[in-house]
Amino acid sequence: SFHKSKGQHILKNPLLVDSIVQKAGIKSTDVILEIGPGTGNLTKKLLEAGKEVIAVELDSRMVIQGDVLKTELPRFDICVANIPYQISSPLTFKLLFHPTSFRCAVIMYQREFAMRLVAQPGDNLYCRLSVNTQLYARVSHLLKVGKNNFRPPPKVDSSVVRIEPRKPQPQVNKKEWDGFLRVCFIRKNKTLGAIFRQKSVVLMLEKNFKTLQAVLASLNGVTGEAAVMDVGDQSMGMEDDDNEMEDDDEDMEMDEGQGGGGEFKEKVMNVLKEGGFEEKRSSKLSQQEFLYLLSLFNKSGIHFS
Ligand code: SAM
Repeated sequence: SFHKSKGQHILKNPLLVDSIVQKAGIKSTDVILEIGPGTGNLTKKLLEAGKEVIAVELDSRMVIQGDVLKTELPRFDICVANIPYQISSPLTFKLLFHPTSFRCAVIMYQREFAMRLVAQPGDNLYCRLSVNTQLYARVSHLLKVGKNNFRPPPKVDSSVVRIEPRKPQPQVNKKEWDGFLRVCFIRKNKTLGAIFRQKSVVLMLEKNFKTLQAVLASLNGVTGEAAVMDVGDQSMGMEDDDNEMEDDDEDMEMDEGQGGGGEFKEKVMNVLKEGGFEEKRSSKLSQQEFLYLLSLFNKSGIHFS
């Protein structure tokens, strides 16, 4: 019997299983990590292709029992998985921040999530998840998979995506980068000028600025907790951005407390102007542009974590 709560949708099409294994580019020397092996149909083929398969599975009736999100993962060369979709976000970042390097992960996702992962600037689905993931990895769409390839069929179609961690990994402060993107994507179609004029944003940045100044000024290091933008979630942009305003003309929304900030607001605006970012929108900015803007902020002593 299938456990719906565990996202158990078994791949019933053996040709599709073959195709995934083939596209993964497995070498005979590879240690393979499989997440959610279920009944082992994919596992069997992975064993034929690689040297060793380490499988983590929630359901105790199957292989090694454990929650992949709570399990310390071993060293592996490649990860191949038809995952339960409810763990898409945390699992992807668990893999991206895995301490030992691996060649790639080939993962089945819900179609829309997959399209968000691979979206480019200007694409409709381009969002914080796209920018965040693509900073750490090269992501490509491998295969469209209709829902009828599963038993029982899930509600939505799927896609197989290849995730190749960048080598070397980018030298960014993860918290700083995440805090920065959270602000930029408060409204992805707003101009950055409008976003960074918001009182809540200016106040948060000013608080961080003052904390840092105090720390620098004191040998004992008065370590205050940095303020981060609280936009209601702790994920790395992996949630649906459905609550994001998609239109460009909601200026009332943005007028929240424009009076605040004063001098510090000027400082923030000057950074945007210096880089020519005031009229730009996150929905169209490339990863390089985001990195550049963050570096300009940091150069002025403005931090996001
Ligand atoms: N690999 C099989 C296939 O392709 O036919 C089954 C894939 S099914 C979509 C996902 C599997 O992941 C289920 O067997 C489920 O029990 C397991 N699972 C769900 N949550 C998990 C978790 N947090 N950690 C490990 N396995 C999990």
